[in-house]
Amino acid sequence: MSETSTNGTVENVVIIGSGPAGWTAAIYAARAALKPLVYIGVPKQNPSIVLPGGQLMLTTDVENYPGFPEGVTGPDMMGMFQKQAERFGTRVKGEDIDEVDFSTKPITLKTSAGDTVHAHTVIIATGAVANWIGLESEMRLAMGGGGVSACAVCDGALPMFRDQHLAVVGGGDSAMEEATHLTKFASKVTVIHRRDELRASKIMQERFLSKANAEVAWNSTVVDVLGDETITAVRLKDTVTGEEREMEVGGLFVAIGHTPATGFLKNSGLHFDDKGYIILEGRQSMTNIEAVFAAGDVADARYRQAITAAGMGCQAALDAEHYLGEHGLI
Ligand code: NAP
Repeated sequence: MSETSTNGTVENVVIIGSGPAGWTAAIYAARAALKPLVYIGVPKQNPSIVLPGGQLMLTTDVENYPGFPEGVTGPDMMGMFQKQAERFGTRVKGEDIDEVDFSTKPITLKTSAGDTVHAHTVIIATGAVANWIGLESEMRLAMGGGGVSACAVCDGALPMFRDQHLAVVGGGDSAMEEATHLTKFASKVTVIHRRDELRASKIMQERFLSKANAEVAWNSTVVDVLGDETITAVRLKDTVTGEEREMEVGGLFVAIGHTPATGFLKNSGLHFDDKGYIILEGRQSMTNIEAVFAAGDVADARYRQAITAAGMGCQAALDAEHYLGEHGLI
């Protein structure tokens, strides 16, 4: 990669990502007078990868983020985060970071516009995208707030899902957790699983299956989601017989795993777990590489909430500031 940066300067902090973790890191770094530079990403054609703004751009009402007693939409919330970060001098670029070289000092980054950027510290906050089944009808209803979601903890308590028959796709711990959560609000919850055996741990299975309004549609996949503006039913295909049937539902929750957005970091030397999440050093935001920090879902397979991501963004900014001070860089 090129030795000189395109604008001839070295950034204190470059933040990659524009969800709650990235913007919170930016707010803290900007208030510490570090003049952070945030790469928010280029909007993608594929609606399952929504950038900028991250997964909250696919969420309708956020009701569990403290400070918003009436709730707030995901896109409005991300707009407010950005405004707050910019108020203190955060600079924003609508490009991706395509390549990184963490072996240089300062660190070298290459943007999708072909620019070379040098930085003393980097905070990776690129998140993780929920996996979707991949149906056009599924994406249309998910984007339009039509009762299809990839997060029951975020959306399950909304009035539209109360006392409805709800479906959850997936057979892992996430599917069990989401389905169990939904049994509190729904008249019935059907887990749709493509095999005749769940992948989830026994305890999570029991927790769901012990509910009076829980059931499983075995050997089934969703081949279509029906409804114009709001979901009315799903079309299921039996994976053994090939037979198709319709099941009326008032909501569909997809829980078939997440994929962390770490593709651009493949040969970076960073340590990842077996699912591709960045491994942090203990409770701090440091990665295995000096001056490289990570925050939010990209380093958190467990909680994946806006509030936890924001907290991690704060930690990363404080850790980066500390690093800069310790090394006499500010
Ligand atoms: P996961 O364990 O990878 O399970 C994904 C599930 O989705 C599997 O049952 C899989 O089916 C199914 N699936 C995948 N692609 C599909 C498709 N295209 N169509 C239909 N079904 C599909 O993912 P996860 O449940 O999100 O869990 C991720 C990790 O987080 C796991 O290590 C889990 O233990 C952990 N976790 C823990 C907790 C907890 O302890 N409280 C809660 C949530 C998650 P197959 O089984 O047929 O492959």
